[in-house]
Amino acid sequence: MRNILVVEDSPLVLKILEHLFRKEAGFQPIFCASMGEARVMLETSAELFFAAIVDLNLPDAPHGEIVDVVMSYKLPCIVLSGTYNEQRRDQMLLKGVVDYVLKESQHSYEYAFRLLHRLESNSAVKILIAEDSDATRHYIRHVLTPHRYQIIEAGDGDEALRILKEQPDIDLLVVDHSMPGISGFDLVKLLRQKMKRHELIILGLSADTKGSLSAKFIKHGADDFLRKPFCSEELNCRVMSTLERRDLLRALKQAAQFDALTGLNNRRAFYEHGQQLFQQARSGGRDLSVAMIDLDFFKRINDEHGHASGDAALIGFARAFSATFPDALLGRLGGEEFAMVSQQDAAALSDALDQLRNHCATLKYAIGAPPLCFSAGIYHGAPDDLESLLHQADLRLYQAKTQGRGRNCWQ
Ligand code: GH3
Ligand code: MG
Ligand code: MG
Ligand code: MG
Repeated sequence: MRNILVVEDSPLVLKILEHLFRKEAGFQPIFCASMGEARVMLETSAELFFAAIVDLNLPDAPHGEIVDVVMSYKLPCIVLSGTYNEQRRDQMLLKGVVDYVLKESQHSYEYAFRLLHRLESNSAVKILIAEDSDATRHYIRHVLTPHRYQIIEAGDGDEALRILKEQPDIDLLVVDHSMPGISGFDLVKLLRQKMKRHELIILGLSADTKGSLSAKFIKHGADDFLRKPFCSEELNCRVMSTLERRDLLRALKQAAQFDALTGLNNRRAFYEHGQQLFQQARSGGRDLSVAMIDLDFFKRINDEHGHASGDAALIGFARAFSATFPDALLGRLGGEEFAMVSQQDAAALSDALDQLRNHCATLKYAIGAPPLCFSAGIYHGAPDDLESLLHQADLRLYQAKTQGRGRNCWQ
């Protein structure tokens, strides 16, 4: 839980913020109605706060004086203002506040919460600035710093390439077009041959006054583009929205690949990776083992102890399954049915499954629920195709069930 210091005197705004905070399980607001109150709070417990949201017009601080107080504690500060004043906004951004948000609609309040969420994840985000002008590079660093990113600088394209090679976990590249040596534009073309959009976000920069360059940048793989000179909010908004887009893409990929309950590969991902292993084994002339596993009398757990206990059993089994076979490809094919592709031979696999079975019998997954048990069918052989290997294993699983369950069949 993150504590957020909220300094605001308007009852209406407080009501809106209270309502929005109630929907945010991860943030706990601490409200202060004046600068005096906030000062006391910070003097005694500044280290307990993650960030602050402050009103510029308070009864004892009518000209935004609260900002300096909050910033002296190095707390990320989001400013709420009732009126738009360009000079005041520039002043605030120059001081290094995270952003200046107008209290004009529901969307602006939601934007403030988006900022809080991003602040949480930004400290893990690495941004590389590739720009030959010292002044522009420093300006970009200054603008991004309040958002808590990790920032790295490169003075030209070649240095950027070297840094990207050394630090492949860089999330976002801000790249100028005209630099000595390799141009920003060529850098984008080069990078996009190796790195996809979800691996590296690219934001192009140029002082070019024609629109054609921005289109060119984007067609060759940049995610967005900014024309110099740009204002700090513009840069921050674009960085934030490209990161949000990337995170959404990652979440979609994750949801498409992994089973939501157990975290194991889902059926589709299991078959996809299984096909690759199968092809590698066939071209290397190696045999493969596959196993099909089905929990025994699982319906009874649901019927007699509730669906939540059934879910806990599936989660417990999946965890033990992964721990027993860290190097094999595992998947949940559906319901209480699991599968595995392994390099081990059938006898070794059967031994390991017996150990897993002993462990499952002692698993405490729900109060009063019966011991967890499963049957397994194993097949080891030269792969013809993955589907037929799985079919062979399934036939043996059926045998294990008809022979009384709680056993492996692999002959
Ligand atoms: P057998 O030993 O013959 O395999 O019997 P069984 O009871 O394990 O098999 P059956 O196919 O009759 O029942 C499987 C049950 O698994 C039925 C279904 O409601 C339940 N199930 C499937 N998916 C889930 C899930 O995600 N959570 C829970 N709790 N139950 C699930
Ligand atoms: Mg330049
Ligand atoms: Mg079953
Ligand atoms: Mg089943």
